[in-house]
Amino acid sequence: MITKAHDGLVGALNILFSKSNIGKVTLSEVTVEQWRSVQSIVLANEGTLKSEDGRLMGRLDLLVADLDENGSSKGWIVADLKTGNPPKQKLNEKVSRQLRFYRDLLKENNPDHPPVHAEGWYSSNQTVHRADGPSVLAEALEAWEGMRPTKTPLEPTPGEMQCGFCEWKAWCPSWWVARRDGLLPPGAMFRDEVVSTIRFDSESGAALFQRMPPVGDDGELAASDHRFGAILRDQALTQMQELIDSGYEGPIFLGSARVDGKIFHLGDWCEVLPWTPLLESIRE
Ligand code: SF4
Repeated sequence: MITKAHDGLVGALNILFSKSNIGKVTLSEVTVEQWRSVQSIVLANEGTLKSEDGRLMGRLDLLVADLDENGSSKGWIVADLKTGNPPKQKLNEKVSRQLRFYRDLLKENNPDHPPVHAEGWYSSNQTVHRADGPSVLAEALEAWEGMRPTKTPLEPTPGEMQCGFCEWKAWCPSWWVARRDGLLPPGAMFRDEVVSTIRFDSESGAALFQRMPPVGDDGELAASDHRFGAILRDQALTQMQELIDSGYEGPIFLGSARVDGKIFHLGDWCEVLPWTPLLESIRE
């Protein structure tokens, strides 16, 4: 790990030296004067870039002067240090977009900028890859707009993988509908359920629940004759007790109950929450 970090540092420094027109030198032989000369081309490091309206932000590794053969600055280089695998030919689209994003933010914030270009510095083989192309700021703003919370939720895409550890099930009707439709397996050892309470003994934590299958797609429920017993302890018992104490009598979401034969066990690893399908934002 340390070796890799060390090699990365040496690789990046060698590229920096080449940009300062000093050429290849053994790092242990660098003079104070040479190091000062290298430092003089570094205009900023670890700089935060923010668009004027505050919507776009980026963090550039290095901004260095782009020197001509006489050592005079002819522009700026936005450099991003890369420790991953260097590209075989040209930068992949994502990396290119990232580098151009820094370049374009910098240009926007500095209207009097000299010529600017962006480069990925790959320390592992000490190669430099330039990111050319049109501005990406319009696309970035479009992406930002697309990430704003909307009144209606995104289209649900229930599936075993994504719903497995999703913590939004008490508010999402879709996984329960997918269970009804056989698109989601019930789970062999741990299971989520939506139930109504038939009996609950807060002393012992014993409960009798009735499964409430979905009707339609929006979280409405129906009664069923499927009943099962459960033992609640620790967090599950506390949450159940709080629901009862609050006067709540509606359906309940049981998250990650452990199935043991016909009995469900709920404890610290579980959630006992009111079933509250959210069909649109309730933000003020
Ligand atoms: S439970 Fe709902 S919100 Fe969570 S992953 Fe499944 S479909 Fe998406």
